[in-house]
Amino acid sequence: MRHLKDSYKHKGMRKQLVKEVASKGIRDERVLNALLKVPRHFFFDDIFDTHAYEDKAFPIGAGQTISQPYTVAFQTELLEIEPGDNILEIGTGSGYQGAILAEMGANVYTIEYQKTLFDKTRKFLPKLGYSLNFFYGDGSKGLPQHAPYDGIIVTAGAPSVPNELLKQLKVGGRLVIPVGGGRTQTMYKLTLHPNNKVMKKEYNQFRFVPLLGEKGWNK
Ligand code: SAM
Repeated sequence: MRHLKDSYKHKGMRKQLVKEVASKGIRDERVLNALLKVPRHFFFDDIFDTHAYEDKAFPIGAGQTISQPYTVAFQTELLEIEPGDNILEIGTGSGYQGAILAEMGANVYTIEYQKTLFDKTRKFLPKLGYSLNFFYGDGSKGLPQHAPYDGIIVTAGAPSVPNELLKQLKVGGRLVIPVGGGRTQTMYKLTLHPNNKVMKKEYNQFRFVPLLGEKGWNK
Protein backbone atom coordinates (compact mmCIF):
# COMPACT_ATOMS: atom_id res chain seq x y z
CA MET A 1 0.00 0.00 0.00
CA ARG A 2 1.16 3.54 -0.63
CA HIS A 3 -0.38 6.85 0.32
CA LEU A 4 0.27 9.74 -2.04
CA LYS A 5 1.10 12.31 0.61
CA ASP A 6 4.18 14.50 0.19
CA SER A 7 4.94 15.89 3.68
CA TYR A 8 7.52 18.50 4.75
CA LYS A 9 9.56 15.60 6.14
CA HIS A 10 9.62 13.93 2.71
CA LYS A 11 10.46 17.21 0.98
CA GLY A 12 13.31 17.77 3.43
CA MET A 13 14.73 14.29 2.85
CA ARG A 14 14.42 14.80 -0.91
CA LYS A 15 16.37 18.07 -0.72
CA GLN A 16 19.14 16.25 1.16
CA LEU A 17 19.19 13.48 -1.44
CA VAL A 18 19.48 16.00 -4.28
CA LYS A 19 22.39 17.68 -2.46
CA GLU A 20 24.09 14.30 -2.16
CA VAL A 21 23.56 13.53 -5.87
CA ALA A 22 24.92 16.99 -6.80
CA SER A 23 27.96 16.42 -4.56
CA LYS A 24 28.70 13.25 -6.56
CA GLY A 25 29.06 15.33 -9.74
CA ILE A 26 25.63 15.93 -11.30
CA ARG A 27 25.63 19.53 -12.55
CA ASP A 28 22.56 19.87 -14.80
CA GLU A 29 20.11 22.01 -12.80
CA ARG A 30 17.17 20.71 -14.83
CA VAL A 31 17.99 17.14 -13.80
CA LEU A 32 18.43 18.14 -10.14
CA ASN A 33 15.13 20.07 -10.25
CA ALA A 34 13.29 17.05 -11.65
CA LEU A 35 14.72 14.91 -8.81
CA LEU A 36 13.53 17.55 -6.36
CA LYS A 37 10.02 17.51 -7.83
CA VAL A 38 9.26 13.78 -8.19
CA PRO A 39 8.36 12.24 -4.79
CA ARG A 40 10.47 9.05 -4.87
CA HIS A 41 8.66 7.62 -1.82
CA PHE A 42 5.49 7.35 -3.95
CA PHE A 43 7.29 4.50 -5.74
CA PHE A 44 7.77 2.56 -2.48
CA ASP A 45 5.32 0.77 -0.18
CA ASP A 46 4.63 2.90 2.92
CA ILE A 47 6.63 0.59 5.20
CA PHE A 48 9.80 1.21 3.17
CA ASP A 49 9.19 4.96 3.02
CA THR A 50 12.46 6.02 4.68
CA HIS A 51 14.53 3.99 2.18
CA ALA A 52 13.21 6.13 -0.68
CA TYR A 53 15.61 8.98 0.11
CA GLU A 54 18.76 6.91 0.43
CA ASP A 55 20.98 7.01 -2.64
CA LYS A 56 20.44 3.30 -3.27
CA ALA A 57 18.64 0.93 -5.62
CA PHE A 58 15.72 -0.93 -4.02
CA PRO A 59 13.70 -4.08 -4.90
CA ILE A 60 10.39 -3.45 -6.70
CA GLY A 61 9.27 -7.07 -7.19
CA ALA A 62 9.66 -9.52 -10.10
CA GLY A 63 13.38 -9.67 -9.23
CA GLN A 64 13.84 -6.05 -10.43
CA THR A 65 14.92 -2.78 -8.82
CA ILE A 66 14.21 0.95 -8.86
CA SER A 67 17.59 2.40 -9.91
CA GLN A 68 19.82 4.35 -7.53
CA PRO A 69 18.98 8.10 -7.71
CA TYR A 70 22.57 8.98 -8.69
CA THR A 71 22.37 6.49 -11.58
CA VAL A 72 19.02 7.94 -12.71
CA ALA A 73 20.52 11.45 -12.59
CA PHE A 74 23.71 10.37 -14.41
CA GLN A 75 21.88 8.67 -17.27
CA THR A 76 19.37 11.54 -17.54
CA GLU A 77 22.16 14.14 -17.68
CA LEU A 78 23.83 12.21 -20.52
CA LEU A 79 20.55 12.20 -22.48
CA GLU A 80 20.62 16.05 -22.74
CA ILE A 81 16.85 16.31 -22.89
CA GLU A 82 15.09 19.34 -24.36
CA PRO A 83 11.36 19.84 -23.77
CA GLY A 84 9.39 18.06 -26.49
CA ASP A 85 12.10 15.48 -27.19
CA ASN A 86 10.90 11.98 -28.03
CA ILE A 87 12.62 9.64 -25.59
CA LEU A 88 12.48 5.84 -25.50
CA GLU A 89 13.08 4.21 -22.13
CA ILE A 90 13.87 0.49 -22.16
CA GLY A 91 12.91 -0.97 -18.77
CA THR A 92 9.91 0.89 -17.28
CA GLY A 93 10.29 -0.82 -13.89
CA SER A 94 8.75 1.30 -11.12
CA GLY A 95 8.21 4.27 -13.46
CA TYR A 96 10.49 6.58 -11.47
CA GLN A 97 12.97 7.20 -14.29
CA GLY A 98 10.06 7.72 -16.69
CA ALA A 99 8.55 10.30 -14.32
CA ILE A 100 11.87 12.19 -14.22
CA LEU A 101 12.00 12.26 -18.04
CA ALA A 102 8.37 13.44 -18.25
CA GLU A 103 9.02 16.08 -15.57
CA MET A 104 11.76 17.48 -17.85
CA GLY A 105 9.23 17.87 -20.66
CA ALA A 106 10.08 14.77 -22.71
CA ASN A 107 7.49 12.81 -24.62
CA VAL A 108 8.26 9.38 -23.17
CA TYR A 109 7.82 5.95 -24.76
CA THR A 110 8.61 3.24 -22.26
CA ILE A 111 8.72 -0.53 -22.65
CA GLU A 112 8.80 -3.25 -19.97
CA TYR A 113 9.48 -6.99 -20.26
CA GLN A 114 7.82 -8.08 -16.97
CA LYS A 115 4.03 -8.12 -17.29
CA THR A 116 3.39 -7.55 -13.55
CA LEU A 117 5.54 -4.39 -13.54
CA PHE A 118 4.05 -3.17 -16.82
CA ASP A 119 0.50 -3.55 -15.44
CA LYS A 120 1.33 -1.93 -12.10
CA THR A 121 3.25 1.07 -13.47
CA ARG A 122 0.88 1.77 -16.35
CA LYS A 123 -1.94 2.20 -13.82
CA PHE A 124 0.13 4.04 -11.23
CA LEU A 125 2.01 6.80 -13.11
CA PRO A 126 -1.08 8.58 -14.50
CA LYS A 127 -2.26 8.97 -10.86
CA LEU A 128 0.79 11.20 -10.34
CA GLY A 129 -0.13 13.22 -13.43
CA TYR A 130 2.47 11.69 -15.78
CA SER A 131 1.10 10.47 -19.09
CA LEU A 132 3.73 8.28 -20.71
CA ASN A 133 3.23 5.91 -23.64
CA PHE A 134 3.45 2.42 -22.11
CA PHE A 135 4.41 -0.74 -24.01
CA TYR A 136 4.76 -4.35 -22.91
CA GLY A 137 7.38 -6.58 -24.55
CA ASP A 138 11.03 -7.01 -25.44
CA GLY A 139 12.64 -3.60 -25.67
CA SER A 140 16.11 -4.97 -26.44
CA LYS A 141 15.27 -4.33 -30.12
CA GLY A 142 13.82 -0.90 -29.33
CA LEU A 143 10.37 0.24 -30.39
CA PRO A 144 10.70 0.83 -34.15
CA GLN A 145 7.05 1.81 -34.69
CA HIS A 146 7.60 5.14 -32.89
CA ALA A 147 11.18 5.84 -34.06
CA PRO A 148 13.16 7.99 -34.63
CA TYR A 149 13.98 9.18 -31.10
CA ASP A 150 15.99 12.12 -29.78
CA GLY A 151 17.20 9.84 -27.02
CA ILE A 152 17.13 6.21 -25.92
CA ILE A 153 17.89 5.19 -22.34
CA VAL A 154 18.46 1.56 -21.43
CA THR A 155 17.96 0.91 -17.70
CA ALA A 156 19.26 -2.70 -17.64
CA GLY A 157 22.76 -4.04 -18.41
CA ALA A 158 23.18 -5.19 -22.04
CA PRO A 159 25.72 -7.74 -23.41
CA SER A 160 26.61 -5.26 -26.21
CA VAL A 161 25.13 -2.21 -27.96
CA PRO A 162 22.22 -3.44 -30.12
CA ASN A 163 22.52 -2.04 -33.66
CA GLU A 164 18.71 -1.88 -33.80
CA LEU A 165 18.78 0.86 -31.16
CA LEU A 166 21.28 3.01 -33.08
CA LYS A 167 19.05 2.73 -36.16
CA GLN A 168 16.15 4.20 -34.16
CA LEU A 169 17.97 7.46 -33.32
CA LYS A 170 17.48 10.78 -35.12
CA VAL A 171 20.62 12.45 -36.41
CA GLY A 172 21.95 14.13 -33.26
CA GLY A 173 20.16 11.52 -31.10
CA ARG A 174 21.78 10.00 -28.00
CA LEU A 175 21.78 6.39 -26.79
CA VAL A 176 22.69 5.89 -23.12
CA ILE A 177 23.34 2.25 -22.28
CA PRO A 178 25.16 0.22 -19.62
CA VAL A 179 27.12 -2.70 -21.11
CA GLY A 180 28.84 -5.69 -19.55
CA GLY A 181 28.30 -9.08 -17.98
CA GLY A 182 30.32 -8.84 -14.78
CA ARG A 183 29.33 -7.53 -11.39
CA THR A 184 29.27 -4.01 -12.83
CA GLN A 185 28.55 -2.48 -16.25
CA THR A 186 30.26 0.34 -18.15
CA MET A 187 28.06 3.29 -19.06
CA TYR A 188 28.24 4.43 -22.70
CA LYS A 189 26.78 7.35 -24.57
CA LEU A 190 26.55 6.96 -28.35
CA THR A 191 25.61 9.97 -30.48
CA LEU A 192 24.47 9.57 -34.08
CA HIS A 193 26.04 12.11 -36.46
CA PRO A 194 25.29 12.71 -40.17
CA ASN A 195 26.34 9.96 -42.62
CA ASN A 196 25.66 7.34 -39.93
CA LYS A 197 28.79 8.29 -38.00
CA VAL A 198 28.54 7.24 -34.36
CA MET A 199 30.51 8.91 -31.59
CA LYS A 200 30.96 6.65 -28.56
CA LYS A 201 31.96 7.90 -25.11
CA GLU A 202 32.75 5.70 -22.13
CA TYR A 203 31.91 6.56 -18.52
CA ASN A 204 32.09 4.93 -15.07
CA GLN A 205 30.98 1.57 -13.78
CA PHE A 206 27.41 1.06 -12.52
CA ARG A 207 25.45 -1.94 -11.30
CA PHE A 208 22.29 -2.97 -13.19
CA VAL A 209 19.93 -5.93 -13.46
CA PRO A 210 20.47 -7.77 -16.78
CA LEU A 211 18.73 -6.74 -20.00
CA LEU A 212 16.70 -9.76 -21.12
CA GLY A 213 15.20 -10.54 -24.54
CA GLU A 214 16.56 -11.18 -28.02
CA LYS A 215 19.46 -8.69 -27.84
CA GLY A 216 19.82 -9.19 -24.10
CA TRP A 217 21.20 -12.05 -22.02
CA ASN A 218 18.51 -14.63 -22.76
CA LYS A 219 15.14 -15.03 -24.48
N1 SAM B 1 13.76 2.58 -15.09
C1 SAM B 1 13.38 1.73 -14.01
C2 SAM B 1 12.86 2.49 -12.80
O1 SAM B 1 12.95 3.73 -12.79
O2 SAM B 1 12.35 1.86 -11.87
C3 SAM B 1 14.53 0.82 -13.66
C4 SAM B 1 14.09 -0.58 -13.55
S1 SAM B 1 15.25 -1.91 -13.46
C5 SAM B 1 16.81 -1.27 -13.04
C6 SAM B 1 15.39 -2.44 -15.15
C7 SAM B 1 14.09 -2.85 -15.80
O3 SAM B 1 14.39 -3.33 -17.13
C8 SAM B 1 13.35 -3.99 -15.09
O4 SAM B 1 12.05 -3.58 -14.78
C9 SAM B 1 13.36 -5.12 -16.13
O5 SAM B 1 12.22 -5.94 -16.06
C10 SAM B 1 13.44 -4.35 -17.44
N2 SAM B 1 13.92 -5.12 -18.60
C11 SAM B 1 14.89 -6.05 -18.67
N3 SAM B 1 15.03 -6.51 -19.93
C12 SAM B 1 14.12 -5.85 -20.68
C13 SAM B 1 13.75 -5.88 -22.07
N4 SAM B 1 14.34 -6.68 -22.96
N5 SAM B 1 12.76 -5.07 -22.48
C14 SAM B 1 12.12 -4.22 -21.61
N6 SAM B 1 12.41 -4.15 -20.30
C15 SAM B 1 13.40 -4.95 -19.83
